[in-house]
Amino acid sequence: MVTTSRPVWENQSPAHICPFDQACSYLEWAAKELKLDSGLLEILSHPRKVVTVSIPVKMDNGEVRVLAGHRVQHSDILGPYKGGIRYHPAVTLREVSALAMLMTWKCALLGIPYGGAKGGIPIDPKKYSVGELERISRRYISELIKDIGPSVDIPAPDMGTSAREMAWMMDTYSVNVGHAVPGVVTGKPLSIGGSLGREMATGRGVMIVVREALADQGKSLADVKIAIQGFGNVGGAAAELLHQAGAKIIAVSGGAGGIYAENGLDIPAVKAYAAQNHRSVVGYPQATAISNADLLTLPCDVLIPAALENQITEENVDHIQARIVAEAANGPVTLEANRVLEARGVTVLPDILANAGGVVVSYLEWVQGLSYLFWDEEKVNREMENLMVNAYRKVIQQAQKRQVNLRLAAYTLGVGRVAQALNDRGLYP
Ligand code: GLU
Repeated sequence: MVTTSRPVWENQSPAHICPFDQACSYLEWAAKELKLDSGLLEILSHPRKVVTVSIPVKMDNGEVRVLAGHRVQHSDILGPYKGGIRYHPAVTLREVSALAMLMTWKCALLGIPYGGAKGGIPIDPKKYSVGELERISRRYISELIKDIGPSVDIPAPDMGTSAREMAWMMDTYSVNVGHAVPGVVTGKPLSIGGSLGREMATGRGVMIVVREALADQGKSLADVKIAIQGFGNVGGAAAELLHQAGAKIIAVSGGAGGIYAENGLDIPAVKAYAAQNHRSVVGYPQATAISNADLLTLPCDVLIPAALENQITEENVDHIQARIVAEAANGPVTLEANRVLEARGVTVLPDILANAGGVVVSYLEWVQGLSYLFWDEEKVNREMENLMVNAYRKVIQQAQKRQVNLRLAAYTLGVGRVAQALNDRGLYP
């Protein structure tokens, strides 16, 4: 008898914290504050389109496997769908749907003319060869060919993907339509229309909002100790830029565990070590080993969770010692934990603001591509800095005006803009 693996859509997240329910609670919270019409809320709590494709892939040993590939398009009210593609074993349709919704609010908050989407394949990319990853990426995009495009839906890197995957995806799309279409993805290599500054962009955005929040408290980056959970695309870049700006980075971690040095880590040396050590910081000699969970509760001024969601929960929130938590990851602080932190006067810089640097420079990449005019890195960084600082200021003003915390302020701005546009456009038919 031939047995097959389970259908891909049965792969759902465990019931305890459903990321989509959590995203909907944030939306409802913002809708209540905005006194949003219930019909608008109903529309915004549903993704416009949910696609799951099967990706048959021939492995290097000749075996054929079928993977699931998701793309959830939450809203295109303000412009083309926009959002990354994640390769991670914990990817589920619910998680991708939640992240697609967050992208809608994030783009609206930043004032960039995009909607929100997200894609994902539940794999651990470290367990696949480069050839296998290329075949997976190409087949995934070819299955989605009718659903994406430079004015329809524009993917980008996310956890587990990078410029390399974007190049394969751009090439697959272009070959299928018969001409080069650089604008179909962002986060591409420079050689095919990528932007300077894109790789460090999410980390740079984190650095900017932390710097602004500290300045509002009369402090500077040189005065503080920072712990960062994660040392990948986002955590690694944030660590490097914050270190350059004079902050003491006392701990960083990756999937396999982390390292701690009370007087600060030499981040360039840690980076060089990780590059030689399968991207892991574990075993770095001038530091003490620490678990991902213990990193969160270290004595520090600023905590930056830059890995997965639901890291700071009711279970560990009482042990968090930082005075500023910057959500470099998506949804690393649960709603309940956020309430506890807020009651203790901790500043939580919400994800849709703190990690928006990536999509901001994706937007700048798209604009450069559409205008056939490419900028130097200084101009890219300057434009992104303006957009980030403006958004940060608007969130602070909204928090003061409505007497709410920063998360609700950011959400009311993002959700409010989309709701206004939806209202103005009206419902068809
Ligand atoms: N994956 C990043 C995010 O979640 C970037 C998305 C993009 O550049 O479109 O914001």
